[in-house]
Amino acid sequence: MSNIDPFSRDPRGRGGRQLPVSGAMPRRGCALPPRLMIALAVAAFAMVSYFMKTKVEHNPVTGEPQRVSMTAEQEVAMGLQAVGQMTQEGGGEHPDAQLNALVDKVGAKLVAANAQGAWAEQFRKYRFNFHLLRDPKMVNAFALPGGQIFFTYGLLQYLETEDEVAGVLGHEIGHVVGRHSAEQMAKSQLWAGLAQAAGMAGADLNMNPQQIAGLIYQVKTTSYGREDENQADDLGVRFMVNAGYDPKGLIKVMQVLKAKGGGGGGPEFLKTHPDPGNRIEHIKAVIEKVAKEGTGIDRASGAPPR
Ligand SMILES: [Zn+2]
Repeated sequence: MSNIDPFSRDPRGRGGRQLPVSGAMPRRGCALPPRLMIALAVAAFAMVSYFMKTKVEHNPVTGEPQRVSMTAEQEVAMGLQAVGQMTQEGGGEHPDAQLNALVDKVGAKLVAANAQGAWAEQFRKYRFNFHLLRDPKMVNAFALPGGQIFFTYGLLQYLETEDEVAGVLGHEIGHVVGRHSAEQMAKSQLWAGLAQAAGMAGADLNMNPQQIAGLIYQVKTTSYGREDENQADDLGVRFMVNAGYDPKGLIKVMQVLKAKGGGGGGPEFLKTHPDPGNRIEHIKAVIEKVAKEGTGIDRASGAPPR
């Protein structure tokens, strides 16, 4: 291919005559700088395609509508594809059969007890697997979309009771059936478009497009955000109660994280699960509410809350 571009902006123009460069063009009629006009158009396009590509679905477990762009099957497939990489990053599967069996048992009990009544259909859409990862330093637990849940030995080693294990797993199951990743991904399609727009407009602010896009990406994708964390805690409490676990186990988990997160042990958890201290008060309030009003699992069946 030829390197000669007939439209190249050679400021000298033909015959070396001086032509004004685009930045120095006098403004005519239009009140907004062209670069900002393009940025606004891209932002508008991102908004429109966000609403066209996504749809609002009612979530029977949270009782709330949510905007998603993928099906539950797609979430499951996506999560399964990432299991290998995720396991590798956590030092591989933990070799202790007894510890693996404990994590599997608690996870299965939580799923079985909650795949009932109004929640049965939502739970059955997902494929739950519980992975204990070997890394003793990573104090963390996380869920891929679709039901692949990871628990590090770095966190498990500080837990003392099965209720606490159930607290961690209940919270992560909450992220899965709450479809928090799918929601984030639907939003990030919007954010990807907006980041592009901000990149163009931001050139006037002396930041390069990559910096701005990177910043937005970081802010929007490195954590679920406070609302999703609170909802996962809320669901975790309900799941624990339905499975016969003491929901105060989740408070103990938060205390462990607060203690370990401050030291050298737990930057990962703080990245994905911010402010364990503030969440304890929220969890206490949820426990009280659930004790009075029930877990919501019987909501659609018309049965009184238990
Ligand atoms: Zn979380």
